[in-house]
Amino acid sequence: MLKYVDYDIVFQEIPDEVSLAINLSNCPHRCEGCHSPQLQSDIGEPLNENVITELLEKYGDGITCVCFMGGDSAPDEVCRLAEFIRLFTNDKIKTAWYSGCKVLNTDTALHSFNYIKLGPYIEHLGPLNKKTTNQKLFKISQGKYQNITYKMWK
Ligand code: SF4
Repeated sequence: MLKYVDYDIVFQEIPDEVSLAINLSNCPHRCEGCHSPQLQSDIGEPLNENVITELLEKYGDGITCVCFMGGDSAPDEVCRLAEFIRLFTNDKIKTAWYSGCKVLNTDTALHSFNYIKLGPYIEHLGPLNKKTTNQKLFKISQGKYQNITYKMWK
């Protein structure tokens, strides 16, 4: 079951978007130097359509994107909630996913998200805003990945 620990309005995670970033727990990755080790535990509250609806009613007018931070233990649920956001907002709010996987095992994500970040955190290579990073940020357009990682380096 997908669970969230907290959320915040952020400006850096997705270029040119004001994002509601939702931090998901039960992360299956074990990156050395993990920025939020508590997210590796199965903690928090269930995240479902009811919670998403409440968040959109509260913050929907002030954001342009919802960004799921994690969720690799339940990728189908992340995709399902992203599709729900698109339907609920009539595509007004974009959807993004920060995954720690190198590649996604599902093509569903291509049709559920406007942005996808891929790659685990590798301490000596640095996070997404470092030019040395292994992580990649993609914009999804017409079912294709466009690498926009360079936009994080400004
Ligand atoms: S993917 Fe993120 S939350 Fe998960 S272990 Fe790696 S750094 Fe930590």
